[in-house]
Amino acid sequence: MSWFKRDKPADEKLPKLENGERKIRTEGLWLKCDGCRQIIWKKDLEANFNVCPKCGAHSRLDAASRLKLLLDGPYETFDQHLTSSDPLGFVDSKPYSQRLRAMQEATNLSDALISACGKLDGRTVQMCAMDIRFIGGSMGSVVGEKIARAIDRAIQLRTPLIIVSASGGARMQEGAVSLMQMAKISAGLMRLDEARLPFISVLTDPTTGGVTASYAMLGDLNIAEPGALIGFAGPRVIEQTIRQKLPEGFQRSEFLLKHGMLDAVVPRLELKPYLAQALKFFAP
Ligand SMILES: [Zn+2]
Repeated sequence: MSWFKRDKPADEKLPKLENGERKIRTEGLWLKCDGCRQIIWKKDLEANFNVCPKCGAHSRLDAASRLKLLLDGPYETFDQHLTSSDPLGFVDSKPYSQRLRAMQEATNLSDALISACGKLDGRTVQMCAMDIRFIGGSMGSVVGEKIARAIDRAIQLRTPLIIVSASGGARMQEGAVSLMQMAKISAGLMRLDEARLPFISVLTDPTTGGVTASYAMLGDLNIAEPGALIGFAGPRVIEQTIRQKLPEGFQRSEFLLKHGMLDAVVPRLELKPYLAQALKFFAP
């Protein structure tokens, strides 16, 4: 009756791996798109810079991939050694210093921003890209200082500045020191303006809190990716304060564009030619 009973466990029919195990590893190879709910091969999504190949929904992109997308080739990074000194000795569910170390190991970044100088369509630019994975892309002393130094470099070398934001806002664990960065960067951008050099702000999902309240909205051009959450306070806080229901699509890029808060909404894969064109306009 061997045709009736199974003579070998099913997994023994699978090819043997080097360590002698017979398993097919599929974990993490496939993802479900939040836009169309379809299953996508992770490699396909990554090759498309996290834009869904089926419906065009934009997932979040890390800072290094962002620089790879927007800059021509190899680029130079700056201030990679800067780390926070934990000025308040802050402790929430765990000490801030421990949280920083864990984040640095998990992301291989020193803080939530990579500051780079490279070419965009042949033109030298200073580009800062934020990374949402690092404590929610929050802005503390390191992010502030890196941007301030990027502004200084832009003035010194007479290059445009582009900042790609992805941030939950100012970093709570550094309190007032984080808030101070807003003023410091805004003052720097004023000097950039006086030097008649362009600053383009690119807002990606999400850009909120102190980042929106300072540099993300101070660009000569403020452009956003489709569907990005952009705001200062969250919708729940606003609803509770004004005691009114918020309109559909509130705080998304398209809504802000319609109400004059943004200059353009540009899909991620068209962003580089758009920036190149804009820079040509500002500095022919
Ligand atoms: Zn999709």
